[in-house]
Amino acid sequence: MYLCRAGQLEAALRRGLQRGRSHPGGQLMFTTDVENYPGFPEKVTGHELMQRFRDQAERQGTEIVTADVTKVDLSEPPFKVWVGDAAEPTLTRSVIIATGARANYLGLASEDKLKNKGVSACAVCDGALFRGQPVAVVGGGDTAMEEATYLSGLCATVTLVHRRDEFRASKAMQNRVLANPKITVLRSHEVREVKDVVDDHVTGIEVENMKNNERRVIPVSAMFVAIGHTPMSELFAGQVALHPNGYIKTVPGTTQTSVPGVFACGDVQDWVFRQAVTAAGTGCMAALESERYLGALGAAH
Ligand code: NDP
Repeated sequence: MYLCRAGQLEAALRRGLQRGRSHPGGQLMFTTDVENYPGFPEKVTGHELMQRFRDQAERQGTEIVTADVTKVDLSEPPFKVWVGDAAEPTLTRSVIIATGARANYLGLASEDKLKNKGVSACAVCDGALFRGQPVAVVGGGDTAMEEATYLSGLCATVTLVHRRDEFRASKAMQNRVLANPKITVLRSHEVREVKDVVDDHVTGIEVENMKNNERRVIPVSAMFVAIGHTPMSELFAGQVALHPNGYIKTVPGTTQTSVPGVFACGDVQDWVFRQAVTAAGTGCMAALESERYLGALGAAH
């Protein structure tokens, strides 16, 4: 949209299908209510928010192609992007990568059936829906600590379930959780089932103590899975520099990747904030940087 509004630039958005087990429209398509996107004092569904983004971009003249990008060659300009079944690549002088990240889940059938019905991977997005109710967080990293701490401010109780005795999280974040009277920590426990598929919403989690194999059900209204995210950067591996955790490297304070003319925005380059509004903000930055890059090349006119 920013690129189209800049005038005389031809902007095309390649919108993926199911590559990397994602969904057209991205992670927001899995979120029911979005309460923290500016400009929506009444909550908006993730689906409606994405539709509005799409309508606005199209109104500004963006051509939207719904197809997976199957291959890219960023070794030299013009860059080559293979789209869908097309044998010939699309040639372009600048690429903005906004492929996002997907939340990791435990892989339980009951978990999958109850997504958006109490199973979530984003406390900031969905926590307020369970205000005053008991909830659980699964994981032992910084995200799990952060989510548990955040939820303790909203929910009646938080049970943090971690599969080992030692946490991966930083000492400072662990200490904050351990000192919080609203958070109960269950170490060396794994979730075996999310209850209750028959009721069609979360009523509890069945956990197993890994030391004695005893199982019990903890009544909760929601389970927040915080066991990491996977950036959708596979397509670009070996072409732009990646961090060791797979996220695309950008020059701090910019969206510039290791390849001039190739920019990255949103969750594929951000494992810290991961919010719709920060992704939109870096998207704007990428568009402005791309426009300036093309302007400097003289390609904008
Ligand atoms: P991490 O990879 O650090 O931690 C994932 C946690 O999930 C681990 O404790 C892991 O257990 C557990 N886990 C993974 N798979 C499973 C599974 N199948 N079943 C049960 N448990 C599982 O991911 P985070 O999202 O926590 O953090 C990602 C990065 O972001 C880190 O570098 C972190 O420091 C950073 N971060 C920083 C923040 C900040 O500074 N404010 C806030 C949030 C994140 P195990 O330990 O046994 O492997």
